[in-house]
Amino acid sequence: MFRPAIKIKRFSRWLLSGLLAAAVCIGAEAAGTKRVKNTSGLVPQVINTKRYYFLRDIARHYHYRLRLFPGGAELTGASRIKLYVNRRAGELNRLHIFFLFAPIAINGRILIHEKDLYNVLDPVIGGKTIRRRPGMILIDPGHGGDDPGALYGNAMEKHIAYQLALELASDLRAAGYPAMLTRHGDRTTSLRQRTLLCQRLKPAVLVSLHCNAHPSSAMRGVETYLVPPVGCMSTNSGRIGRTVLPGNRYDANNFRLAYEIQRSLIAALKTRDQGIKHARFVVLRDSVCPAVLVETGFLSSPRERALLLKTSYRRQVAAAICAGLRNYFGIMKRSRKAAAGN
Ligand SMILES: [Zn+2]
Repeated sequence: MFRPAIKIKRFSRWLLSGLLAAAVCIGAEAAGTKRVKNTSGLVPQVINTKRYYFLRDIARHYHYRLRLFPGGAELTGASRIKLYVNRRAGELNRLHIFFLFAPIAINGRILIHEKDLYNVLDPVIGGKTIRRRPGMILIDPGHGGDDPGALYGNAMEKHIAYQLALELASDLRAAGYPAMLTRHGDRTTSLRQRTLLCQRLKPAVLVSLHCNAHPSSAMRGVETYLVPPVGCMSTNSGRIGRTVLPGNRYDANNFRLAYEIQRSLIAALKTRDQGIKHARFVVLRDSVCPAVLVETGFLSSPRERALLLKTSYRRQVAAAICAGLRNYFGIMKRSRKAAAGN
Protein backbone atom coordinates (compact mmCIF):
# COMPACT_ATOMS: atom_id res chain seq x y z
CA MET A 1 0.00 0.00 0.00
CA PHE A 2 1.24 3.49 -0.83
CA ARG A 3 1.77 5.70 2.22
CA PRO A 4 2.37 9.42 1.78
CA ALA A 5 5.47 10.79 3.54
CA ILE A 6 3.56 13.97 4.54
CA LYS A 7 2.61 14.36 8.22
CA ILE A 8 -1.12 13.70 8.24
CA LYS A 9 -1.87 15.79 11.38
CA ARG A 10 -1.23 19.03 9.43
CA PHE A 11 -3.95 18.28 6.90
CA SER A 12 -7.52 17.21 7.13
CA ARG A 13 -8.20 13.87 5.45
CA TRP A 14 -10.28 15.34 2.63
CA LEU A 15 -7.59 17.90 1.82
CA LEU A 16 -4.88 15.23 1.77
CA SER A 17 -6.86 12.95 -0.50
CA GLY A 18 -7.57 15.94 -2.78
CA LEU A 19 -3.85 16.77 -2.96
CA LEU A 20 -2.98 13.17 -3.70
CA ALA A 21 -5.59 12.95 -6.44
CA ALA A 22 -4.20 16.15 -8.00
CA ALA A 23 -0.64 14.79 -7.83
CA VAL A 24 -1.80 11.60 -9.51
CA CYS A 25 -3.51 13.55 -12.32
CA ILE A 26 -0.53 15.83 -12.94
CA GLY A 27 2.01 13.04 -12.73
CA ALA A 28 0.17 10.41 -14.73
CA GLU A 29 2.09 9.35 -17.86
CA ALA A 30 -0.82 7.29 -19.12
CA ALA A 31 -4.21 6.04 -18.03
CA GLY A 32 -3.93 3.69 -15.06
CA THR A 33 -0.51 4.95 -13.92
CA LYS A 34 0.45 7.19 -11.02
CA ARG A 35 3.73 8.42 -9.60
CA VAL A 36 5.13 7.89 -6.12
CA LYS A 37 8.46 9.09 -4.73
CA ASN A 38 11.36 6.76 -4.10
CA THR A 39 14.39 7.46 -1.91
CA SER A 40 16.92 6.44 -4.60
CA GLY A 41 15.94 9.45 -6.73
CA LEU A 42 14.16 7.30 -9.31
CA VAL A 43 10.41 7.81 -9.53
CA PRO A 44 8.38 4.60 -9.88
CA GLN A 45 5.21 4.50 -11.96
CA VAL A 46 2.44 2.44 -10.38
CA ILE A 47 0.73 0.47 -13.13
CA ASN A 48 -2.03 -1.94 -12.12
CA THR A 49 -0.59 -2.00 -8.56
CA LYS A 50 2.91 -2.90 -9.85
CA ARG A 51 5.84 -0.49 -9.65
CA TYR A 52 7.73 0.15 -12.86
CA TYR A 53 10.54 2.55 -13.85
CA PHE A 54 11.08 4.35 -17.12
CA LEU A 55 14.19 3.09 -18.87
CA ARG A 56 15.00 6.71 -19.70
CA ASP A 57 15.21 7.50 -15.95
CA ILE A 58 17.28 4.37 -15.24
CA ALA A 59 19.75 5.37 -18.00
CA ARG A 60 20.07 8.83 -16.48
CA HIS A 61 20.44 7.44 -12.94
CA TYR A 62 23.30 5.07 -13.87
CA HIS A 63 24.83 7.42 -16.51
CA TYR A 64 24.04 4.93 -19.29
CA ARG A 65 23.17 5.62 -22.93
CA LEU A 66 19.70 4.51 -24.04
CA ARG A 67 19.07 3.38 -27.61
CA LEU A 68 15.62 2.27 -28.71
CA PHE A 69 15.07 -0.19 -31.54
CA PRO A 70 11.84 -1.71 -32.84
CA GLY A 71 10.45 -3.88 -30.04
CA GLY A 72 13.16 -3.16 -27.48
CA ALA A 73 16.03 -1.11 -26.16
CA GLU A 74 19.70 -1.18 -25.31
CA LEU A 75 21.35 0.46 -22.31
CA THR A 76 25.09 1.01 -22.67
CA GLY A 77 27.62 2.08 -20.07
CA ALA A 78 30.10 0.00 -18.07
CA SER A 79 27.71 -2.89 -18.85
CA ARG A 80 25.38 -3.53 -21.78
CA ILE A 81 21.74 -4.50 -21.34
CA LYS A 82 19.41 -5.54 -24.14
CA LEU A 83 15.72 -5.97 -23.49
CA TYR A 84 12.55 -6.54 -25.45
CA VAL A 85 9.01 -5.31 -24.79
CA ASN A 86 6.68 -8.08 -23.55
CA ARG A 87 9.52 -10.63 -23.42
CA ARG A 88 11.23 -11.87 -20.27
CA ALA A 89 14.37 -13.02 -22.10
CA GLY A 90 17.06 -10.35 -22.32
CA GLU A 91 20.82 -9.90 -22.33
CA LEU A 92 23.27 -8.58 -19.77
CA ASN A 93 26.83 -8.24 -21.07
CA ARG A 94 25.96 -10.81 -23.77
CA LEU A 95 24.75 -13.32 -21.17
CA HIS A 96 21.19 -14.61 -21.41
CA ILE A 97 19.06 -13.42 -18.55
CA PHE A 98 15.36 -13.69 -17.78
CA PHE A 99 13.62 -10.67 -16.36
CA LEU A 100 11.22 -11.39 -13.51
CA PHE A 101 8.53 -9.45 -15.40
CA ALA A 102 8.51 -8.66 -19.10
CA PRO A 103 9.38 -4.99 -19.81
CA ILE A 104 6.36 -2.97 -20.96
CA ALA A 105 5.86 0.05 -23.22
CA ILE A 106 3.50 2.99 -22.66
CA ASN A 107 3.22 5.67 -25.34
CA GLY A 108 6.49 4.51 -26.90
CA ARG A 109 8.35 4.63 -23.58
CA ILE A 110 9.76 1.41 -22.13
CA LEU A 111 9.48 0.56 -18.43
CA ILE A 112 10.90 -2.25 -16.34
CA HIS A 113 9.53 -3.72 -13.13
CA GLU A 114 10.96 -2.61 -9.79
CA LYS A 115 12.02 -6.19 -8.91
CA ASP A 116 14.07 -6.32 -12.12
CA LEU A 117 15.71 -3.00 -11.37
CA TYR A 118 16.73 -3.98 -7.83
CA ASN A 119 17.28 -7.73 -8.18
CA VAL A 120 18.56 -8.19 -11.75
CA LEU A 121 20.12 -4.98 -13.09
CA ASP A 122 21.36 -3.15 -10.00
CA PRO A 123 23.35 -6.11 -8.55
CA VAL A 124 25.53 -5.93 -11.71
CA ILE A 125 25.43 -2.31 -12.89
CA GLY A 126 25.09 -0.69 -9.45
CA GLY A 127 26.36 -3.33 -7.06
CA LYS A 128 25.68 -1.31 -3.92
CA THR A 129 23.96 -4.26 -2.26
CA ILE A 130 26.86 -6.70 -2.72
CA ARG A 131 28.28 -6.70 0.78
CA ARG A 132 29.15 -9.80 2.72
CA ARG A 133 32.31 -11.22 4.22
CA PRO A 134 34.20 -13.90 2.34
CA GLY A 135 34.20 -17.21 4.20
CA MET A 136 33.59 -20.91 3.74
CA ILE A 137 32.05 -22.11 0.48
CA LEU A 138 29.61 -24.97 0.85
CA ILE A 139 29.54 -27.18 -2.25
CA ASP A 140 26.47 -29.33 -2.72
CA PRO A 141 26.91 -32.27 -5.12
CA GLY A 142 23.37 -33.08 -6.29
CA HIS A 143 21.70 -36.47 -5.61
CA GLY A 144 23.75 -39.46 -4.28
CA GLY A 145 23.16 -42.96 -2.90
CA ASP A 146 19.63 -44.17 -3.73
CA ASP A 147 19.04 -41.13 -5.92
CA PRO A 148 21.20 -41.30 -9.05
CA GLY A 149 19.78 -38.15 -10.68
CA ALA A 150 19.80 -38.19 -14.49
CA LEU A 151 20.94 -41.46 -16.12
CA TYR A 152 22.13 -41.68 -19.72
CA GLY A 153 24.29 -44.52 -21.04
CA ASN A 154 27.15 -44.97 -18.58
CA ALA A 155 26.77 -41.46 -17.18
CA MET A 156 25.20 -40.96 -13.73
CA GLU A 157 24.49 -37.44 -12.56
CA LYS A 158 25.30 -38.23 -8.90
CA HIS A 159 28.85 -39.39 -9.78
CA ILE A 160 29.61 -36.48 -12.13
CA ALA A 161 28.27 -33.95 -9.61
CA TYR A 162 30.45 -35.48 -6.87
CA GLN A 163 33.60 -35.50 -9.04
CA LEU A 164 32.92 -31.86 -9.94
CA ALA A 165 32.46 -31.01 -6.25
CA LEU A 166 35.82 -32.60 -5.33
CA GLU A 167 37.56 -30.68 -8.14
CA LEU A 168 35.93 -27.41 -7.13
CA ALA A 169 36.78 -27.90 -3.43
CA SER A 170 40.43 -28.55 -4.29
CA ASP A 171 40.60 -25.49 -6.62
CA LEU A 172 39.04 -23.28 -3.95
CA ARG A 173 41.36 -24.51 -1.20
CA ALA A 174 44.37 -23.97 -3.51
CA ALA A 175 43.16 -20.38 -4.01
CA GLY A 176 42.93 -19.90 -0.23
CA TYR A 177 39.15 -20.31 0.19
CA PRO A 178 37.88 -22.85 2.72
CA ALA A 179 35.41 -25.28 1.14
CA MET A 180 33.16 -28.07 2.44
CA LEU A 181 30.81 -30.59 0.84
CA THR A 182 27.20 -31.44 1.79
CA ARG A 183 27.81 -35.13 1.07
CA HIS A 184 30.85 -37.38 1.13
CA GLY A 185 30.98 -40.33 -1.21
CA ASP A 186 27.93 -41.98 -2.73
CA ARG A 187 25.59 -41.39 0.22
CA THR A 188 21.86 -40.83 0.13
CA THR A 189 21.50 -37.25 1.36
CA SER A 190 18.05 -35.69 1.62
CA LEU A 191 17.39 -32.07 0.67
CA ARG A 192 16.46 -31.46 4.32
CA GLN A 193 19.85 -32.80 5.48
CA ARG A 194 21.62 -30.48 3.03
CA THR A 195 19.59 -27.50 4.22
CA LEU A 196 20.20 -28.31 7.90
CA LEU A 197 23.93 -28.56 7.24
CA CYS A 198 23.87 -25.19 5.51
CA GLN A 199 22.03 -23.68 8.50
CA ARG A 200 24.54 -25.21 10.94
CA LEU A 201 27.71 -24.29 9.03
CA LYS A 202 26.56 -20.80 7.98
CA PRO A 203 28.78 -20.64 4.89
CA ALA A 204 29.54 -17.48 2.91
CA VAL A 205 27.94 -19.00 -0.20
CA LEU A 206 26.36 -22.27 -1.31
CA VAL A 207 26.94 -23.75 -4.77
CA SER A 208 24.85 -26.76 -5.77
CA LEU A 209 26.16 -28.82 -8.69
CA HIS A 210 23.94 -30.77 -11.08
CA CYS A 211 23.73 -32.10 -14.63
CA ASN A 212 20.79 -31.39 -16.89
CA ALA A 213 18.58 -33.60 -19.05
CA HIS A 214 16.14 -32.83 -21.88
CA PRO A 215 13.96 -34.90 -24.23
CA SER A 216 15.92 -33.45 -27.18
CA SER A 217 19.48 -34.77 -27.48
CA ALA A 218 20.40 -31.56 -29.34
CA MET A 219 19.89 -29.50 -26.18
CA ARG A 220 23.20 -28.53 -24.57
CA GLY A 221 24.78 -25.78 -22.51
CA VAL A 222 25.02 -24.38 -19.02
CA GLU A 223 22.42 -22.64 -16.86
CA THR A 224 22.64 -21.14 -13.37
CA TYR A 225 19.66 -20.84 -11.04
CA LEU A 226 18.84 -18.56 -8.15
CA VAL A 227 15.69 -18.28 -6.04
CA PRO A 228 13.12 -15.76 -7.39
CA PRO A 229 12.31 -12.74 -5.17
CA VAL A 230 8.92 -12.82 -3.43
CA GLY A 231 5.97 -12.13 -5.74
CA CYS A 232 7.96 -13.20 -8.82
CA MET A 233 7.70 -16.10 -11.25
CA SER A 234 9.98 -19.10 -11.59
CA THR A 235 11.50 -18.92 -15.09
CA ASN A 236 10.39 -22.37 -16.22
CA SER A 237 7.18 -23.12 -14.30
CA GLY A 238 5.84 -19.56 -14.28
CA ARG A 239 4.63 -20.07 -10.70
CA ILE A 240 4.53 -17.04 -8.43
CA GLY A 241 5.68 -17.36 -4.80
CA ARG A 242 3.79 -15.26 -2.25
CA THR A 243 5.89 -15.98 0.86
CA VAL A 244 9.29 -14.57 1.72
CA LEU A 245 11.78 -17.46 1.79
CA PRO A 246 15.02 -17.61 3.82
CA GLY A 247 17.00 -17.35 0.55
CA ASN A 248 15.23 -14.07 -0.29
CA ARG A 249 17.41 -12.27 2.27
CA TYR A 250 20.13 -12.40 -0.38
CA ASP A 251 18.19 -11.61 -3.58
CA ALA A 252 20.74 -9.11 -4.92
CA ASN A 253 23.76 -11.20 -3.91
CA ASN A 254 22.14 -14.34 -5.36
CA PHE A 255 21.89 -12.64 -8.73
CA ARG A 256 25.45 -11.33 -8.70
CA LEU A 257 26.76 -14.75 -7.68
CA ALA A 258 24.78 -16.46 -10.47
CA TYR A 259 25.97 -13.84 -12.96
CA GLU A 260 29.68 -14.26 -12.07
CA ILE A 261 29.52 -18.05 -12.21
CA GLN A 262 27.52 -18.22 -15.46
CA ARG A 263 29.76 -15.61 -17.11
CA SER A 264 32.89 -17.50 -16.15
CA LEU A 265 31.46 -20.85 -17.34
CA ILE A 266 30.35 -19.49 -20.72
CA ALA A 267 33.72 -17.82 -21.32
CA ALA A 268 35.68 -20.95 -20.37
CA LEU A 269 33.58 -23.74 -21.90
CA LYS A 270 32.46 -22.09 -25.16
CA THR A 271 29.17 -23.94 -24.77
CA ARG A 272 25.61 -22.69 -25.18
CA ASP A 273 24.42 -20.13 -22.70
CA GLN A 274 21.06 -21.39 -21.42
CA GLY A 275 20.84 -18.37 -19.14
CA ILE A 276 20.51 -17.20 -15.57
CA LYS A 277 17.16 -18.48 -14.35
CA HIS A 278 14.98 -18.38 -11.27
CA ALA A 279 13.61 -21.48 -9.49
CA ARG A 280 12.50 -22.32 -5.95
CA PHE A 281 14.76 -25.35 -5.56
CA VAL A 282 14.84 -26.44 -1.88
CA VAL A 283 18.58 -25.83 -1.40
CA LEU A 284 18.22 -22.29 -2.81
CA ARG A 285 14.92 -21.54 -1.10
CA ASP A 286 16.09 -22.48 2.40
CA SER A 287 19.67 -21.26 2.16
CA VAL A 288 21.04 -19.03 4.93
CA CYS A 289 23.59 -17.45 2.55
CA PRO A 290 23.72 -16.40 -1.12
CA ALA A 291 23.12 -19.59 -3.12
CA VAL A 292 23.08 -20.82 -6.72
CA LEU A 293 22.47 -24.10 -8.48
CA VAL A 294 24.57 -24.79 -11.56
CA GLU A 295 23.39 -27.16 -14.28
CA THR A 296 26.83 -27.93 -15.69
CA GLY A 297 25.72 -29.61 -18.93
CA PHE A 298 23.16 -31.95 -20.50
CA LEU A 299 23.68 -35.66 -19.99
CA SER A 300 20.98 -36.14 -22.66
CA SER A 301 23.36 -34.62 -25.22
CA PRO A 302 25.82 -37.33 -26.40
CA ARG A 303 28.43 -34.64 -27.01
CA GLU A 304 28.14 -32.99 -23.60
CA ARG A 305 27.78 -36.33 -21.82
CA ALA A 306 31.10 -37.51 -23.32
CA LEU A 307 32.72 -34.26 -22.18
CA LEU A 308 31.35 -34.47 -18.62
CA LEU A 309 32.68 -38.03 -18.32
CA LYS A 310 36.20 -36.69 -19.03
CA THR A 311 38.33 -35.61 -16.06
CA SER A 312 39.96 -32.82 -18.11
CA TYR A 313 36.56 -31.26 -18.96
CA ARG A 314 35.30 -31.54 -15.37
CA ARG A 315 38.49 -29.76 -14.28
CA GLN A 316 37.68 -26.95 -16.72
CA VAL A 317 34.12 -26.70 -15.35
CA ALA A 318 35.37 -26.60 -11.74
CA ALA A 319 38.08 -24.04 -12.58
CA ALA A 320 35.48 -21.79 -14.24
CA ILE A 321 33.14 -21.97 -11.20
CA CYS A 322 36.12 -21.27 -8.92
CA ALA A 323 37.04 -18.21 -11.04
CA GLY A 324 33.42 -16.99 -10.87
CA LEU A 325 33.44 -17.32 -7.07
CA ARG A 326 36.75 -15.46 -6.84
CA ASN A 327 35.32 -12.63 -8.95
CA TYR A 328 32.25 -12.52 -6.73
CA PHE A 329 34.34 -12.28 -3.55
CA GLY A 330 36.64 -9.75 -5.24
CA ILE A 331 33.68 -7.47 -6.00
CA MET A 332 32.46 -7.71 -2.42
CA LYS A 333 35.91 -6.77 -1.13
CA ARG A 334 35.92 -3.68 -3.40
CA SER A 335 32.39 -2.64 -2.40
CA ARG A 336 33.25 -3.07 1.32
CA LYS A 337 36.31 -0.86 0.84
CA ALA A 338 34.24 1.74 -1.02
CA ALA A 339 31.63 1.67 1.78
CA ALA A 340 34.36 2.11 4.43
CA GLY A 341 35.78 5.07 2.48
CA ASN A 342 32.43 6.88 2.34
ZN1 LIG B 1 20.08 -32.92 -10.54
